[in-house]
Amino acid sequence: MTSQKLNTFLENNLQELKDNGLYNEIDVLEGPNGPKITIDGQKLINMSSNNYLGFANDERLKAKANEATDIYGVGAGAVRTINGTQAIHEELEDKIAAFKHTEAAVAFQSGFNCNMGAISAVMNKNDAILSDELNHASIIDGCRLSGAKVIRVKHQDMDDLRAKAKEAVESGQYEKIMYITDGVFSMDGDVAKLPEIVEIAEEFDLITYVDDAHGSGVMGKGAGTVKHFGLQDKIDFQMGTLSKAVGVVGGYVAGTQNLIDWLKVRARPFLFSTSLTPGASAACIEAIDIMSNSTEENERLWENGRYLKDGLKNLGFDIGNSETPITPCIIGEEKLTQTFSKRLTEEGVYAKSIVFPTVPRGTGRVRNMPSAAHTKEMLDQVLATYEKVGKELNVIK
Ligand SMILES: *Cc1c(COP(=O)(O)O)cnc(C)c1O
Repeated sequence: MTSQKLNTFLENNLQELKDNGLYNEIDVLEGPNGPKITIDGQKLINMSSNNYLGFANDERLKAKANEATDIYGVGAGAVRTINGTQAIHEELEDKIAAFKHTEAAVAFQSGFNCNMGAISAVMNKNDAILSDELNHASIIDGCRLSGAKVIRVKHQDMDDLRAKAKEAVESGQYEKIMYITDGVFSMDGDVAKLPEIVEIAEEFDLITYVDDAHGSGVMGKGAGTVKHFGLQDKIDFQMGTLSKAVGVVGGYVAGTQNLIDWLKVRARPFLFSTSLTPGASAACIEAIDIMSNSTEENERLWENGRYLKDGLKNLGFDIGNSETPITPCIIGEEKLTQTFSKRLTEEGVYAKSIVFPTVPRGTGRVRNMPSAAHTKEMLDQVLATYEKVGKELNVIK
């Protein structure tokens, strides 16, 4: 007999989610997560992946992953600090550091566990973390895990950041104070105001931590948001993921040698969770090599982003204020947003709706993630479908 208490808890809560239409049915892809996907036998144009540069199914990355698997095996066999550090892991970290123009870098198994490990390796209960209110869940959890006092800062509000930094310093309560922010915010596509952030950080002696999950491979010709602003020497933590534009899996922090040395002895996922697979590491190295040698994919990504945005705007849609290829199409009311997304899918375009509580009530949107792998024909088909569904549901005239 399994626990009756647990069963009751699960049944009640699952039923409540289902009754409120909040239970998420998972779509299963019958193949790679490329610009076109197949779900339940239906071929769809894919506007929902983070595969910005098309690398997730790139032949060059696949070849390197297979080659490394032949040489090193499918698994690393241990955590990094026992004997799960293979030459390919060090090669990856050297590549990341060179690409980011930092002294060193450390790789983790995912962006999520990178944030869990890196924040709490440095911050503790004697410290405070100023955190943008729209930061990613992994930042929120990482901050919580550290035990530091978390102070929410209004989204991208530099006056609020300045005021709260001042207050935290003047309280004299904290040994260290960090400001942590997404480099690119994934719901609206807006970019962290790093020049102002650096100014405030210098004034109040803040540690700076930029999570560039959506900026790496996209901003700064691929090298990220910090590089975009030329602030590599001013930001303490350049954190990123290897699972979005890089197309594979994993996370990293790039920074000074001292910081990386410390993370390698204190970040718990590095110490207690088995290393990245050799195949994944090799594929990431290839992705960084490609990005270092050519901006072809990066330019196509931005061009496709502009094309999609112009098209949607010309049709009369509200596409918000994105500064990146991320293209929200703001529908407004929650139910209508969900219906809109469902109709797009029926018409062959897969674009997910994002509604409250992920975004504020009344700002429901269908979020589009154009990539370098989309063709103009695909984007034209997406636009034609938006026009059809938009008129049908009276979102546009
Ligand atoms: C996706 C994301 C992560 C998590 O990265 P994974 O590699 O998918 O675990 C962390 N931070 C931000 C801002 C993200 O968008």
